Amino acid sequence: MIIKPKTRGFICTTAHPEGCTQNVREQIDYVKSKEPINGPKKVLVIGASTGYGLASRVAAAFGSGADTIGIFFERPADSKRTATAGWYNMAAFEEEAIKAGLYSKSINGDAFSDSIKEQTIELIKKDWGKVDLIIYSLASPRRTHPQTGEVFNSVIKPIGKPYTNKTVDFHNGEVSDVTIEPATEDEIRQTVAVMGGEDWEMWMKALKNAGVLADDVTTVAFSYIGPELTHAVYKDGTIGKAKEHLDTSAKNITEMLKGINGKAYISVNKALVTQSSSAIPVVPLYISLLYKAMKTKGTHEGCIEQMYRLLKERLYADNLLLDEAGRIRLDDFEMQEDVQNEVAKLWALVNTDNIEQVSDIKGYREEFFKLFGFMRAEINYDEECEVDVKNPGMI
Ligand code: NAD
Repeated sequence: MIIKPKTRGFICTTAHPEGCTQNVREQIDYVKSKEPINGPKKVLVIGASTGYGLASRVAAAFGSGADTIGIFFERPADSKRTATAGWYNMAAFEEEAIKAGLYSKSINGDAFSDSIKEQTIELIKKDWGKVDLIIYSLASPRRTHPQTGEVFNSVIKPIGKPYTNKTVDFHNGEVSDVTIEPATEDEIRQTVAVMGGEDWEMWMKALKNAGVLADDVTTVAFSYIGPELTHAVYKDGTIGKAKEHLDTSAKNITEMLKGINGKAYISVNKALVTQSSSAIPVVPLYISLLYKAMKTKGTHEGCIEQMYRLLKERLYADNLLLDEAGRIRLDDFEMQEDVQNEVAKLWALVNTDNIEQVSDIKGYREEFFKLFGFMRAEINYDEECEVDVKNPGMI
């Protein structure tokens, strides 16, 4: 098949296997170029196929020599369609991990379900005995509750009153005002049910009850705070409510793991182009300006730099540098005053006519297409390519 990007809004419905393979290799090369991590050895990553989960799996395997199990929800290719990018990412990861002599297995299915939890526990019992780090990196628009069967849908909306601000269509650079109506109580409830910590707690309880958690086990889930200008749609909006719930879950899990000295952390990460963040209004424009400011300053990072830093300089370093609320902060460079002042200045100026100059919208667009294996200089996208790629570690 000759594969070209096909987009529908902020979704790309095709993915290029060779491009995705190169993306994964690039992350592996980055980690190998850095100092090794004296870190975890048996790592379970829930949401391992793209974004922060993929990068944390690469950092653990190739930085710390860890055996990994990755859980994700991706679609393989069929006769008419390519697989999803995450499918190709995981196939490439497994291949590289096996070559490097690392144990590496993949489970593809709904992580919110009881059956995927049971399958994972069986695998850990059979092959490892115990797990010492669990990264929880799910981002999903919906969740079916495993006990009640209720289907929850998450929304990204402000709370209390409508919110108007600038946004960009990153495909054509058109800057316009967007108004988002406030969420209803039920929308807030459903978003918390999808993106809050209930499922993380269910995972940790199931793993604990099965006796597969090592002493001193660590688990981490990801959050975002960001600057004032995105607060209405993020921190103070529906997704922020879900993240507050996640904070509470971290405390509940730490309490639950007291007997084995286990700890649950929230890591507040940097805003980055991922499949999930491109779906949030206002945020792509903010990220384009942020990238401009951070690249100019030389402090820009991608998922892999962030996840390497999480393991090397926080979780497995002497000091986790927790903030006043007990969270790990990897958004430290993003939130520096000079960076945020620059973003605020550019935010006031940016419009359709000057966006290519004042922002890094070009970098945003490139990174978006790169997520799906496109826009890589070394790949000839006019050539035929095999879309049916097998994952050698699939259970
Ligand atoms: P992503 O969309 O790149 O990755 C989501 C992962 O979840 C994928 O591996 C996907 O397969 C998996 N997944 C989704 N639904 C699933 C299901 N039902 N069962 C199994 N797997 C499923 O997202 P991301 O941006 O890396 O986000 C991960 C976490 O990081 C989220 O908690 C997000 O809020 C947080 N975060 C993101 C940013 C950002 O800017 N992207 C910043 C800070 C924090």
